[in-house]
Amino acid sequence: MKYISTRGKSPAVTFEEVVLTGLAPDGGLYIPDSLPMVTPAQLQEWKKLSYSDLAFEIIRQFVDGAIPDANLRKMINDSYAGFSHPDVAPLVHLQKNDWVLELYCGPTLAFKDFALQLLGRLLDFFLEKRQQHVAILGATSGDTGSAALEGCKHCRFVDLFILHPHNRVSEVQRRQMTTVEGDNVNNLAIEGNFDDCQQIVKQAFADQSFLPAGYQLVAVNSINWARIMAQIVYYFYAALKFLDKAEAVSFSVPTGNFGDIYAGYLAKKMGLPIRQLIIATNRNDILHRFISSNSYSLSTLQPSLSPSMDIMVSSNFERFLYDLFKGDTQRVASFVTGLGKNAQQVSDEEWAFARAHFASRAVDDVATIATIQEVYKRTGFLLDPHTATGVKAAEVCNTDSSIPMITLGTAHPAKFGAAIEQAGLEVPALPAHMSDLFSRKERYSVLANDLATVKAYVVETLKKRR
Ligand SMILES: *Cc1c(COP(=O)(O)O)cnc(C)c1O
Repeated sequence: MKYISTRGKSPAVTFEEVVLTGLAPDGGLYIPDSLPMVTPAQLQEWKKLSYSDLAFEIIRQFVDGAIPDANLRKMINDSYAGFSHPDVAPLVHLQKNDWVLELYCGPTLAFKDFALQLLGRLLDFFLEKRQQHVAILGATSGDTGSAALEGCKHCRFVDLFILHPHNRVSEVQRRQMTTVEGDNVNNLAIEGNFDDCQQIVKQAFADQSFLPAGYQLVAVNSINWARIMAQIVYYFYAALKFLDKAEAVSFSVPTGNFGDIYAGYLAKKMGLPIRQLIIATNRNDILHRFISSNSYSLSTLQPSLSPSMDIMVSSNFERFLYDLFKGDTQRVASFVTGLGKNAQQVSDEEWAFARAHFASRAVDDVATIATIQEVYKRTGFLLDPHTATGVKAAEVCNTDSSIPMITLGTAHPAKFGAAIEQAGLEVPALPAHMSDLFSRKERYSVLANDLATVKAYVVETLKKRR
């Protein structure tokens, strides 16, 4: 299996290379050049597997021999051994045919642990083999940063530089990053907003000549293929629980960068019987506007109660555009790069294709709070504000109540206390492993919102390290 760029101007790369990079040199995103197909007989077999064993069966097909089976199996087992629930991704019944898949039993209480626990181990394996050091550079508005630090703090060949907007992430989120211990951990609080952080990261990736000789940058956001790959697994794991009871299942996915739901789309393409895939957005609704009105256009960023979905452009949508435009990489490139100037449209036939795969709904803060309250009253289950957008979108978009509707529970409610308080409910305690979060020592450096300053910081740190 090779990985090709959505923009068609970069050479195909191997699994090892795709893990060790970010965007393709032509600015596109990497996608596999083919997908493993799953038969009904295989699904029956897979039904019996534990989460880790299922993950191994699925992931090894994408790894395609780049890692010996025994090593891969150990990496996967180790990645999920620390999750607090034996099911790793437990399925909770809400009411009638509605379910929540709890993806927040990992160390940082959000679904990003699923991929980043594994990514750290993949990096260490390949880098040890190559005897090469890399720097992870990433911008975060919250959940990615802590999951990346937890996933990679043990990596001997990796130094981490995570940028967050100074004074603009929640205290729990900041402390989850700044209290991570490790000589390779660097938290940079940038005097700017999330977009400023992301801009600095993008520019550093585009020209890496500032790095000491031999170094390269690796991305930890969902443009990294390994993240998508790891997330395909829980769609299978959840759907397999209904295999003999329903002809298909549907998923509602709280969506920001389109990484998580794209993994669901791939699961469906691989042969998993998925009926509906519902994109739930908050007020930052570029994807909902496209699905509902065939207009793909920028609008200003609006802070919301579900900050991990506050995004102007969903980068991973480009991966779906490759299919939408039937592999016409020229069109993918012009659609994506044209976005800055004009609203983009597709043909009626293409729009129908997109709508055949995705339903969508934008859920504002008022509806988010109301959903948290309603669901709690009716079922006693406390939703975090991200998951609440998914539950609401599921309710509105569901076209067949005989099909199980599974909303991805993307974060633990204790992480987003402000929204829970606004709903008039009691904020749950942090789980035991985080109960002393507020007394742990924090470590971070405040830096100017300036590319050269960040580059200098990275270079100096790397030089001191070896
Ligand atoms: C990252 C995140 C999302 C959005 O996921 P994408 O893959 O970016 O669409 C939703 N909810 C939570 C809690 C997150 O951390």
